[in-house]
Amino acid sequence: MSQKILVVEDEVDVRELVVLHLKRLGHAVTAVGSVEEARGAMAAARFDLAIVDWMLPGASGVDFIRETRRSRDRGELAILMLTAMSEPKDIVEGLDAGADDYLSKPFDAGVLVARVRALSRRISGTQDTAAPSMEVVKLGQLHLYPETYEVKCCGEPISLTPSEFKLLIALSKSQGRVLTRDSLISQIQGEGVSVVGRTVDTHVFGLRKKLGDCADVIETVRGVGYRVKPDLEA
Ligand code: CA
Repeated sequence: MSQKILVVEDEVDVRELVVLHLKRLGHAVTAVGSVEEARGAMAAARFDLAIVDWMLPGASGVDFIRETRRSRDRGELAILMLTAMSEPKDIVEGLDAGADDYLSKPFDAGVLVARVRALSRRISGTQDTAAPSMEVVKLGQLHLYPETYEVKCCGEPISLTPSEFKLLIALSKSQGRVLTRDSLISQIQGEGVSVVGRTVDTHVFGLRKKLGDCADVIETVRGVGYRVKPDLEA
């Protein structure tokens, strides 16, 4: 059965490898590079399984697991730690924090796939089988599907680059609030493209162009940055 999986990993190579294997298994995968982004993804969508690295920029994977376990409505999320921290005491700490399983790096792809299968079996066994509805972020006529990286304007699909999609998600998460260039940079960094200073303007320009009729969802706040309009007609 296909699961919705969140991958929290800051090393791009590892992240891409994990995503590749999960997608081959037919899972819907959302991949992020920090706990901050993971919180955003969790706020926007429901996941069955999270694969979490320990050492991340900012808050650690273990912090993320503890906070996830504290929030009652996330109880059913299965968590697999995937980390270079492989001392017995680390494994104990990871499991005690709330991870269901633990895999040390460097890892064998076959073992990763088997662990995910095992966790998936358990999830499928405990869940009702009704098709879960896909999460949608609605910004007026602009609809974002964070799980599948799809965007539609007035029902028409729009093809965005990963950086543009992350930019749009970052702005939509803070709808109404102005995001500075620096905060946008930190949120879209990690796609193999390093974004600096005015490059954000280029991305926003490209994004707006692609959004067509929905372009006015994003407002420029002169001298500060950008925001998604606070009140949008559905
Ligand atoms: Ca790491």
